[in-house]
Amino acid sequence: MYICDNCKTRSAIFFQRHTGRRLCRECLEADIITRVREQVTRYSMINSSDTVAVGVSGGKDSYILLYILTQIMPISKIIGITIDEGILGYSRREVFENVKNFCKNLGIECVYVTMREALGYSVDDFMKLYLEIQRENPTVTPLSACTYCGIARRRILNIYARQVGATKVATGHNLDDEVQTYIINILRGDIIRLVQLHPLSKTHNPKLIKRIKPIRSIYEYETSFYAYILKYPYQEYECPYIEARPTLRVKVRELLYEIEKTHPGVQLKLLEFLDNWIQHLINTQIASLPLCKLCGEPTSPGRDICKFCELIELIRRKQRF
Ligand code: SF4
Ligand code: ZN
Ligand code: ZN
Repeated sequence: MYICDNCKTRSAIFFQRHTGRRLCRECLEADIITRVREQVTRYSMINSSDTVAVGVSGGKDSYILLYILTQIMPISKIIGITIDEGILGYSRREVFENVKNFCKNLGIECVYVTMREALGYSVDDFMKLYLEIQRENPTVTPLSACTYCGIARRRILNIYARQVGATKVATGHNLDDEVQTYIINILRGDIIRLVQLHPLSKTHNPKLIKRIKPIRSIYEYETSFYAYILKYPYQEYECPYIEARPTLRVKVRELLYEIEKTHPGVQLKLLEFLDNWIQHLINTQIASLPLCKLCGEPTSPGRDICKFCELIELIRRKQRF
């Protein structure tokens, strides 16, 4: 049995690879909370007048995000938003019951929204129709469920956050997610998305609620272990569409894991480096985002119609015929 390298008293239960330290449960928790607080303060993610809407998927990271927020800000200023994507075998009722109970135990108000009610199509509804369109017309670009799911979830979070009067939207992206997305945007040469990922980036439209990622400096191996020891009732089933995840992300993820194995801490250093480097580019970017002519929500520069409406129009055209 090892003794914790930090407090030198309690038994260690966790090996923090990127620092080479063995930690007890209390010191692991304190370390994670300190690092989240550091990110929140450094990038002014949450101020005293903010109300934060938290996207709670029922996955481990979303539980950890909620719990840590209760440790660093007033509970009355946190609202959970849980979205039922409508994916058979994955979006299960018990997951949402668990989220509801978890929020209740923490004293947090929680809103439950189904993708079908909010936007007209669940992920399954959308994919069924999209695949039919593709079968009928093979020139239609293949689309992964994750693309629709990601766009739809971001949209719902933004709309509901506005409705409940939230001033920030928090999501449970961890360090691994964040570094992967940075690298993907670099590989694609997408400077706008690269800059938008930075915690200090601007929203460029008053209808877009600023998104924050308070646990972005915490490794996935840490959030997994932390959720496990805290016995959080997190969703253990994998989404059936996970196999169809964009291949570039899968490759980047695998590559970073390989490097991390022999160079522990490399992703943390990469995050730090990219944050500092991109910070200089923030003010050189777009001044404002246009509004979509169909739905009135903000869209990307140069677009008349947002990506969401473009996809939905395709589906509706199919339903009309
Ligand atoms: Fe949505 Fe893709 Fe995640 Fe499934 S794997 S929940 S489709 S983003
Ligand atoms: Zn300790
Ligand atoms: Zn639109």
